[in-house]
Amino acid sequence: MDYVIPFNKPMMVGAEMEYIQAALHNLHVSGDGAFTKQTHAWLENTIGAKKALLTTSCTHALEMSAILLDIQPGDEVIVPAFTFVSTVNAFVLRGAKPIFADIRPDTLNMDETKLEALITPHTRAIVPVHYAGVACEMDAIMAIANRHGIAVVEDNAHGLLAQYKGKNLGTFGAMATQSFHETKNFHCGEGGALLINDPQYVERAEIIREKGTNRSRFFRGQVDKYTWVDVGSSYLPSDMLAAYLYAQFEQREYIQSSRAQAWRLYAEHLSDWAEEHRVQLPTVPAHVEQAYHMFYMLLPSLEVRTKIIAHLKERGIQTVFHYLPLNVSDMGKAFGGKAGDCPVTEDVSDRLLRLPFYNTLSESDVMQVVEAFYAFTDWV
Ligand SMILES: *Cc1c(COP(=O)(O)O)cnc(C)c1O
Repeated sequence: MDYVIPFNKPMMVGAEMEYIQAALHNLHVSGDGAFTKQTHAWLENTIGAKKALLTTSCTHALEMSAILLDIQPGDEVIVPAFTFVSTVNAFVLRGAKPIFADIRPDTLNMDETKLEALITPHTRAIVPVHYAGVACEMDAIMAIANRHGIAVVEDNAHGLLAQYKGKNLGTFGAMATQSFHETKNFHCGEGGALLINDPQYVERAEIIREKGTNRSRFFRGQVDKYTWVDVGSSYLPSDMLAAYLYAQFEQREYIQSSRAQAWRLYAEHLSDWAEEHRVQLPTVPAHVEQAYHMFYMLLPSLEVRTKIIAHLKERGIQTVFHYLPLNVSDMGKAFGGKAGDCPVTEDVSDRLLRLPFYNTLSESDVMQVVEAFYAFTDWV
């Protein structure tokens, strides 16, 4: 059905068409053209990462991070049980065993107080996900990782432009990954980026991204021929996609301020209702600057969630939920995961609801959604 208010609208917000045409006229439509370089510079200057490399997806940036960390069969990688499959798949593809960490009941981020107990002599990486663009407790996570000499890769798919204690997300780990999928704040349909903070990984990252060749060094004149030097794959997006994405980056103020406004309107107008019905709205700690990636709520039960989704659908409003606990997925169980391992994840997963959230969501759209929640009476 066509929804009056869909869950997502991946809109053009500026010069997307103009820049795509320019990319075509440049006659450099493959990867690493002029627009790709502009997106790299924007990410490096805005976030403060040493090196940014555009990729075909966040999934692929995560795969690059697993290759860069030289993850081998038998290595263990700690991931939150409450995340998208790509966070873990990238490491499993290299033969790693995933170790699932439970989440905090307030921010739904990896519970840093349970992290140290999961570390073994085989642990090679910790992959925190900044859920909903609200930072994980990075002081604690980095202290544990550093004490044990374990690399941190931030899955920052939700958290571009967010901060933890005044420092940008994506700058804490040795590496971080971004997504520019159409459901994220800034998008180009499908796309991603690898941000590198530890300079030891920069040169090899360029090689892995270029099918295992030293092509980037060749184009910079640092070597006189380019050849096969390492493993790798094809992780460069077309410059047409970079052109689209750069137009979105230019609209940073518009995108972030409209999302902040929609988020605040939901929070303000749903707070009394939420309290009355024992619904939990998002928690954003005071030392955190969030990315305004999504607005979610935790309903009292799965039954209520199912009824509310149907009730909103009748009114033309699309709501969705996500992240079945990875520890009880078919793959998670094959790695030894079982029910009861991650009680907070398993509880939250049944009750979480994501509300319509996109750059052009207007005040009247938000109010229509809010009214629909107030009109729901079938609490069980
Ligand atoms: C969207 C998302 C990804 C994957 O992003 P793609 O660009 O679609 O590969 C990975 N991790 C998290 C937490 C995400 O939300």
